[in-house]
Amino acid sequence: MKVIHLSVECFPVAKVGGLADVLGALPKYQRKLGVDASVVMPWYNRKFTQENKFDHIAYGAFYQGSELLHYEILKEANDLLGFPLYLIRIPGKLDREEVYCYPDESEQWLSFQHAFLHWLKADGIQPDLINCHDHHVGLVPFLLKYSYEFQQFSHVKTLFTVHNGQYQGWMNWSKGILLPSFDSWQWGLLDWDGVINPMAAAVKCCDAFSTVSEGYLKELFIEANGLQSLFSSESQKGYGIVNGIDTDYWNPQLDTLIDSNYNLNTVEKGKSQNKKSLCEQYKLDPSLPLMSFIGRFAIEKGADLLAEIIDQLLGNIKSKMSIFILGSGDQDIQDALQQILEKYPKQLAVYFGYNESLAHQVYAATDLLLMPSRVEPCGLNQLYALQYGTIPVVRGIGGLKDTVIDVQETGGYGIVFPEAHVEDAVQGVIRTLEIVNQVDLLSEIRQREMHLDFSWNKSAQKYLDLYTKLLK
Ligand code: ADP
Repeated sequence: MKVIHLSVECFPVAKVGGLADVLGALPKYQRKLGVDASVVMPWYNRKFTQENKFDHIAYGAFYQGSELLHYEILKEANDLLGFPLYLIRIPGKLDREEVYCYPDESEQWLSFQHAFLHWLKADGIQPDLINCHDHHVGLVPFLLKYSYEFQQFSHVKTLFTVHNGQYQGWMNWSKGILLPSFDSWQWGLLDWDGVINPMAAAVKCCDAFSTVSEGYLKELFIEANGLQSLFSSESQKGYGIVNGIDTDYWNPQLDTLIDSNYNLNTVEKGKSQNKKSLCEQYKLDPSLPLMSFIGRFAIEKGADLLAEIIDQLLGNIKSKMSIFILGSGDQDIQDALQQILEKYPKQLAVYFGYNESLAHQVYAATDLLLMPSRVEPCGLNQLYALQYGTIPVVRGIGGLKDTVIDVQETGGYGIVFPEAHVEDAVQGVIRTLEIVNQVDLLSEIRQREMHLDFSWNKSAQKYLDLYTKLLK
């Protein structure tokens, strides 16, 4: 079974969030199950592309509106990722340093999708199924069916995976002329509320869509940034498959990015050594419980609540604890954290920015990890926390609700609080500190966490079952 994953992020080539982690791992696990899985993504001017060897395997050109675009296909030469990786490079469009936030984002992703299909046609590549990930590649299911240029692929099955339904890739209809020519009677499939909506087009035209947890699938029927009625009406082809984690890379016993490796038998010593070195580096007291937050400073993540949560915990309640924040994003959130940092310099450390190896050290070093998310399609941080024996303190929503069982329930191993509010989060943290301060109970919970299996094995099989169903 030949499956192509189409995405604009893939770890370690270009990562902004969980999308990259999924693309960097799922195809590897699928290949173990006998699927001929590969990834096609844009070329970025980044460390990975500069430092590794690529074979130049194809060239081509097409018109995007009146602009002639030349593309080049590069294949990673040394099987570094455990699956074939293809990068599409287009001077001026797909040759940038960052993944997102360019003013011509629509043109960028349109050129990626068009070049991909152009290459398949030119080289006679016939996948059985294309797994499109998020709105950036959401026009592919439509183009396979209704563009004149790519009619020969109309039978190719598509699975559209929704990693985040909040972002939909909206573009004005004036950009319609930039698409490869298509059957204009079908324009309604591209439209939602008077604009081209690639996420909506994908949900309408794909053979099936999946979300990255079952809980999130149900939530999309109620709230999906305007698309809830569409998700509901297409629900018969919707599936929820929870993300897994790559245990070759996220593994405290093998992790080369942490100071002290540990396993189930050495977790107490290992975590305390990692905590000591992180605390020494950031001038925190290692004898206190250490809480962390890792992630994008976005409203979705509840990051706007952090400053107030910290103020309550360290100021009003005077909890004996330290806090480590690693993230970047919204400037107002960053400013609020900077202010609170000045208020509690001895108990709080903040690293503004993206730092992959620091993230590993933080998962390994901290006792509890807070996720006060408003929306969380799956969430990977809580899974990494569990893998590293760190108690996740999460708001019960989406994938967080599916993957974290509160300690009050039989066999529970985390803390779940009901709403993305400061008070609920603070109460959740206080409950967790009660556990962290009881050595035997903490050690029991850590053992439970580290016995869990959130590797990709189970979910990769679920994807395969779904592909098989679609291909029958
Ligand atoms: P998202 O909605 O951002 O995709 P996920 O929980 O699915 O959230 O995945 C987040 C991923 O990004 C995790 O691998 C997490 O460790 C990583 N991450 C987020 N912010 C940072 C940061 N500032 N530095 C390093 N890693 C980060």
